[in-house]
Amino acid sequence: MEIKIVKRIMEANEEHAQVVRERLRQANVVALNLISAPGSGKTSLIECAIRELSNELPIGVIEGDPDTTRDAERVARLGVPVVQINTEGGCHLEATMVLRALEEMPLDGLRLLFIENVGNLVCPVVFDLGETHRVAVVSIAEGHDKPAKYPALFRTTQVTVLNKVDLMPYMDFDESQFIADMRKLNPEMPILRVSCRTGEGIAEWVGWLRGAVNAANTVVVR
Ligand code: MG
Ligand code: ZN
Repeated sequence: MEIKIVKRIMEANEEHAQVVRERLRQANVVALNLISAPGSGKTSLIECAIRELSNELPIGVIEGDPDTTRDAERVARLGVPVVQINTEGGCHLEATMVLRALEEMPLDGLRLLFIENVGNLVCPVVFDLGETHRVAVVSIAEGHDKPAKYPALFRTTQVTVLNKVDLMPYMDFDESQFIADMRKLNPEMPILRVSCRTGEGIAEWVGWLRGAVNAANTVVVR
């Protein structure tokens, strides 16, 4: 009985994710699902991207949070369209929530859509949101054991941002262990070393985003 219900939830999510994917394809928008633990710096990475890119690529943001509109307010200050999803305690986003948020989003004018998931390394992984790519974010302060402990996320991710690298001198973060564990799960995935505070690696982050949009262009032309 219980198994059947879970299966039905996942099937409904998959249907809604397909609708999201089709809307994004029609509007020629690349959507990125940002997954991380709370406090890894997802919102800061989005802010950096908006500052560097929104003149050449129109950007929209969907903010997922259990409560508050704090991240949405931060992003809205930069003058881009933002829709807040409050999950009311829920620990992940589902495709149906994204579908509703898209109704409020001026999709046709956009090229890039950030979907900031609820801070959580477990269940966001199993809910397809219809995104083009998944972006995992890990901050130095969380420790180097995250790939080993949460393998499902890193197996299904197209890029990982190792954030807050400016903290490296103050932390016992074993970067070679982190990379070795990551390579076992996802040998080809780019791992971007970034600090939003110092600006280190922001050019690489922005370059990866440009590449994702350009790759989508190529597909549309074909
Ligand atoms: Mg945030
Ligand atoms: Zn959850």
